[in-house]
Amino acid sequence: MQKPFAQRCIEPDCGSTFELAAPLYVCSRCGGLLDVDWTEPPAVDLDSLRNVWRSRMTSFEAADRSGVWRFRELLPFAADVQIVTLNEGNTPLYNAPRSSEYCGVDSLQLKHQGANPTGSFKDTGMTSAVTQAKVLGARLVACASTGNTAASLAAYAAQAGLLCAILVPEGQVSYAKLAQSLDYGAKVLEIEGNFDSCMRVIRELSDDGSIYLVNSINPFRIEGQKTVAIELAEQLAWQVPDHLVVPGGNLGNSSAFGKGFRELLALGLTTRMPRISVVQAEGASPFAAYVNGQRGEFVDEQHPSTLASAIKIGAPVSWKKALRAVSETEGQVLTVSEQEIADAKAVIGRDGIGCEPASATTVAGIRKLRAEGFIKPGETVVAVLTGHLLKDTDYVNKYYNNSLETEHGQRIQGTFSNPPIQVRGSLDELRSVLSSLG
Ligand SMILES: *Cc1c(COP(=O)(O)O)cnc(C)c1O
Ligand SMILES: [Zn+2]
Repeated sequence: MQKPFAQRCIEPDCGSTFELAAPLYVCSRCGGLLDVDWTEPPAVDLDSLRNVWRSRMTSFEAADRSGVWRFRELLPFAADVQIVTLNEGNTPLYNAPRSSEYCGVDSLQLKHQGANPTGSFKDTGMTSAVTQAKVLGARLVACASTGNTAASLAAYAAQAGLLCAILVPEGQVSYAKLAQSLDYGAKVLEIEGNFDSCMRVIRELSDDGSIYLVNSINPFRIEGQKTVAIELAEQLAWQVPDHLVVPGGNLGNSSAFGKGFRELLALGLTTRMPRISVVQAEGASPFAAYVNGQRGEFVDEQHPSTLASAIKIGAPVSWKKALRAVSETEGQVLTVSEQEIADAKAVIGRDGIGCEPASATTVAGIRKLRAEGFIKPGETVVAVLTGHLLKDTDYVNKYYNNSLETEHGQRIQGTFSNPPIQVRGSLDELRSVLSSLG
């Protein structure tokens, strides 16, 4: 049975609605972004809903085991839909004492989305988008990507038996991410230019309906990703943290957290929203420039530059949705430098938690927000780590060997440098190295 959901344009002076099966990515009247919203709120008993969600974790059914589909009462899919899942979600919420101390905050926890099947948060949205592709009878699914969306789509398309094409900027995707897409059998098309060029091309390609586009402009992606907010609230016994801090690239993730927490509040499952703050890399920060009033209107960054390749984006498609999340929760949008990202990543590592550079913008950002007094003593903070350490080991090795340089050739200090030590000699030499530790 179909649930009471529809696609709705987010532009206040439009608000057109479209049925779920309409193969759209933006409003066909005004070009605005679309939300998938319920037309009547689900009639649910809150306690039984919490209990059902929790009890599913002990089931062996794929739809119950998934940390996305476990929350299916809030997803716009019929009860008998054939889902495409790789057991995504249910990711850990870690304590991080060293990161917490580094930031100067009393309570910092790290929600590690790198623990998903393909190593990034993209899986939580890909399971729903590729399921929708099946519902619509798509033959070929496609995306533009800085690497992780591609790896994720390639895996879910393979699992679903769909053809898959991905557009990536030539020479700008980490080997690990590329390797994943190749292994999952996707057709990898390398485009001259950057991510924004890939995005432009693929939006034009998708106009004629021959491909199904699963970038985060697709509102069904956001539906899966919003469940991370539910899962996080559940992990915190339905208490919402004071602050939630996420990296900002194409701005789908921050949009999805806003939507998830908004729906939880509307249902009465929580009593407030966290302040949602977004951190961008200095060299790729059009959203920060806009929100902080340096520019009167939204201006794309023509030459985005950062080693955090997952957020090297100058024309983020979802900025209006992200703006909604930040404004309604009174969060901040800030930037951090390449050096700050690299050092924060190393500190997270010292907690035994590995993430990719883009994810570390969060800890770097929290440190700043605390120093500025935006985060107050005693407040609880959750940072979202978006991708796994092994996504970009080249960066890590260079940092620890003191040879990491920005795209403009500036040396990044290995503040927490930890190079391997060559020991060629005797046991005595080894003993002396070991006794000098700690
Ligand atoms: C995609 C991605 C981001 C950016 O997320 P947006 O939703 O595009 O803002 C950040 N970090 C990692 C590791 C990613 O893969
Ligand atoms: Zn519209």
